[in-house]
Amino acid sequence: MYKQKQRFFVLMILLLVLTVLLLGLSIAAGIIPSLKNIPFLEQGASILAMLSGGLAFAMVFKITSINESMRSLHVENRYYLSRESLFYNYQLFEKRIERLVKSHKKQGTYIVVFSASKRAVMRNVYRNNTVTQLNGFISDYLNALLAENKEYKSSDFAFCYYHGQFVIYTYLPLNETQEIISKINKEIYAIVERNDIKVFALPYFGVAEVRKDQSLFETLDNALTARDYAEKHFEPETFYSDDLRKDASLSEVEELREAIANNELEVYYQPKYNLETKRFVGSEALVRWNSPRYGLLAPARFLDRAEISGLIHEIDMFVFKRVCEDLASIRRKGDRMLPVSVNFSMYEFYSPDFFDNISMIIDKTGTARNLIEIEVTETTAQANPFMTTSILKKLKDSGFRILMDDFGLGFSNLGNLNRMAFDTVKIDKSFIDGLITDSKSREIVKFLIALCKTNNMEVIAEGVDKVEQVEILRKAKCDTIQGYYYSKPLPLAQYQAFLANNPFEKKEEGK
Ligand code: C2E
Ligand code: MG
Ligand code: MG
Repeated sequence: MYKQKQRFFVLMILLLVLTVLLLGLSIAAGIIPSLKNIPFLEQGASILAMLSGGLAFAMVFKITSINESMRSLHVENRYYLSRESLFYNYQLFEKRIERLVKSHKKQGTYIVVFSASKRAVMRNVYRNNTVTQLNGFISDYLNALLAENKEYKSSDFAFCYYHGQFVIYTYLPLNETQEIISKINKEIYAIVERNDIKVFALPYFGVAEVRKDQSLFETLDNALTARDYAEKHFEPETFYSDDLRKDASLSEVEELREAIANNELEVYYQPKYNLETKRFVGSEALVRWNSPRYGLLAPARFLDRAEISGLIHEIDMFVFKRVCEDLASIRRKGDRMLPVSVNFSMYEFYSPDFFDNISMIIDKTGTARNLIEIEVTETTAQANPFMTTSILKKLKDSGFRILMDDFGLGFSNLGNLNRMAFDTVKIDKSFIDGLITDSKSREIVKFLIALCKTNNMEVIAEGVDKVEQVEILRKAKCDTIQGYYYSKPLPLAQYQAFLANNPFEKKEEGK
């Protein structure tokens, strides 16, 4: 990037010199009569002067846009790698590597993809400063590796960071590429130990050969498939072949499709406790896959493939329908009935039928709308703000309550809070995790609570599992708490039994 800037700078200077020369020549033609006899000098000189002026303008424009993309690269790198301007992002990497690949004579260019731990852990990059810190150290190491290996040219070796994974390009024989992999593998464990990083290091590497008949993105996709295969089969490193694809994608999606058809999905309920009334006031519905083959699976194990394949829509609708049916059965039995919040994926907020789909289920099951709260993550709300705002407004106007989930993650846009008129805001677990030990998290949580209160919104803290966290939140005037401290998510019958008889409400009543 800096080199590119330098090149532009040199070109700029050359152009300016050319412009000055040409202008000088055309002025000289006005003073020295003999120069006037040169045919078309004046016209030629002014055309060239205009041309170089235009080019200089284009250069300035180009430099401004390079500066702009550098600035956003700094922000991106700071966000994902806790470092400024270390790496290319994928777009810049792709441009550079495609140019390099075209110029290669020999066979043997590889794309290696890896992350320091399982995907589910690394996905927490949005939630977890520790992961970002670890990524920062890894990126330092990759740069050092390039710097110390005098025998590698910079066109032999390049990296970028892409959606939670490091991507390396090597124009080296396979055995040397594998040597690099094993060095990085060792170093990841060393980094975690040396810096006392609280992440369970378990690196998985996927390798794919760059083929001239494929785009770089296709090669990257192959390497990612190999990496996922490695994780699933507990292999530290997998080399891509087309056979892997059948195993990694088709069969997994088919498996999930069958699971939905065979009624293997279940809905669990996690209670929410109000600190003011000292009563449980509702629950969140969370999907589980009770697989005869793998046992009880949490969403992190299957939502990815559901999102990729579009099955997420069926899951969302299944959960919503089951919640409405469960509420109907609680009502019939005359048991204690509390509102339930339901998660919906981004997919629903791009679907024009979302409102009609859920209205149909509500009408069929005779569910009161004020018993349902719709959970939208901050990321969903930001991805498509105009569409989300209008759908949420329609839902709210028809009587549903609206909740913003995972608040505080990513680039929080406080303006969303007002514009989208949320009834409830759930502060993300990553801030709650730091409540006891990290004064910064404590201050942020206090600030977020105060902010929501000013906007007349209920505040929930999620992922609370320690009594000390409850006390801090109570002092900060948080309304409601959801977390393992009170209860894990439970199947319906156990949840109803918990509501009927639990140590928290009893303790308060007995006081
Ligand atoms: P979420 O909506 O933010 O749900 C909260 C997650 O935090 C749940 O994980 C819950 O079990 C977990 N949790 C709650 N209290 C604690 C605690 O004290 N400690 C710890 N370690 N964890 C706690 P779960 O059930 O695995 O769900 C993960 C995510 O999957 C959810 O995050 C939500 O984004 C998604 N999800 C779950 N059910 C559905 C669904 O029906 N539809 C859609 N679209 N997404 C769903
Ligand atoms: Mg949620
Ligand atoms: Mg959440």
